[in-house]
Amino acid sequence: MSAGAINFQLAKQVPIARVLAHYGVQLHETGGELRGQCPLPEHTSPESRNSFSVNIARNLWCCQSQSCIYARDGELGGTVLDLVARLERCSIREAAVRLIEWFGAGEVMRVPVQATSVSQTNLPLRFQLSGLEHSHSYLEGRGITALTARTLGIGYYGGPGIMQGRVAIPVHNGAHELVAYAGRSVDGEDPKYRFPPGFHKSRELFLLHRARHSGNSAVIVVEGFFDAAKVWQAGHRNVVALMGSSLSDTQAGLLQKHFRQAVLMLDGDAAGQAATAAISRRLSQIMEVETILLRPGVQPDQLAPKEINETLPPRFRPGKGLER
Ligand SMILES: [Zn+2]
Repeated sequence: MSAGAINFQLAKQVPIARVLAHYGVQLHETGGELRGQCPLPEHTSPESRNSFSVNIARNLWCCQSQSCIYARDGELGGTVLDLVARLERCSIREAAVRLIEWFGAGEVMRVPVQATSVSQTNLPLRFQLSGLEHSHSYLEGRGITALTARTLGIGYYGGPGIMQGRVAIPVHNGAHELVAYAGRSVDGEDPKYRFPPGFHKSRELFLLHRARHSGNSAVIVVEGFFDAAKVWQAGHRNVVALMGSSLSDTQAGLLQKHFRQAVLMLDGDAAGQAATAAISRRLSQIMEVETILLRPGVQPDQLAPKEINETLPPRFRPGKGLER
């Protein structure tokens, strides 16, 4: 990775809350996000006093004021880099430099280890969980059938360890090696997902080991495990999940290596739309990209198989001989 690329990655990791605090922007928390008056110089509408929102978990912002979006050439929102570039009226590159100057020390300490480390791969796990229950009320509640759960190896784990009492989702690398389990809490316990220590989800694409053998040169890219499981269940074997709403360099490389086209189907909320725009811009430099915008508030995991199939382009008819 070049020094420039490292800086961009670094700068993107600066928590957006710290950036907003730096500018003295005060927002209030509502419905899991921060909201308030838009601080951007492009924002001129006196009526829109509550149009700026921030998703802390995803480190993304957006402003839904029409005039503000228009003044920003149609961009709904973006990353901390976009935010600083607009507030400072400087280039993205300069924004990265400034972010690192302001907040760098702690972040810079952390990242070079990753950026220069020889091993960029997750090591295969030395164990496999046994006794997973593929029929479980949590899975049923998310619309995952026992057949899908069994096929994908997903199940409730009652045994000892960090996955205890959680739904365990096996994560494989492209070479079919088991590299992690994601442990989803079933009772609202934090964190929502637990991973084995040392696992980097930015280095994998969930279900890549299956999608790369689907015989399809196009891949459907979703955000989460359950989004992917639902698209799989609707009959599509060419689906992978980012395990988040951002795309790492490694993930971009994996998509380019195995597929000719990416079909982005991220969440339909404002943050998902901002992520779609950012990822689409990035991926379109290396492969064909098609984006599917879901209705606001809709995620693929909430859709029934029929709705998923109606949402996807017509050429994505489920293959023959697949269990439904
Ligand atoms: Zn605005």
